[in-house]
Amino acid sequence: MLRILRILLLGLLLTCPACRHGRMFRSLFVMNVRCPVCGVIFERDAGEVTGGMAINMTLTSTFALVAGGVLGIATDIPAGELIVLLGLATAGFGMLFYRHARGLWTSILYLTGSIFED
Ligand SMILES: [Zn+2]
Repeated sequence: MLRILRILLLGLLLTCPACRHGRMFRSLFVMNVRCPVCGVIFERDAGEVTGGMAINMTLTSTFALVAGGVLGIATDIPAGELIVLLGLATAGFGMLFYRHARGLWTSILYLTGSIFED
């Protein structure tokens, strides 16, 4: 269990789960195909990016739902302003969490044995 949490944390920190040293991203939104340290392929199959997108979409929607509920109940912000505020915050959260969602998906692939050294 501790191993699983550690590997998921490595993914969130955008670090290769196989060698625990290589960086997954070379720029803000461009993921390395291979780990620069151990050479493992992060997303081996075509379409693997959709796993990270699904994680990002799920967590962003959850964020919007919880934030909207809390702000709608606990504050007196008018509905129009609340919708605009939530829209901007949700879009920002989705963009900021995109890399981490893909890193998390890569960790899940590693845990399921879909990432392995050649
Ligand atoms: Zn590596």
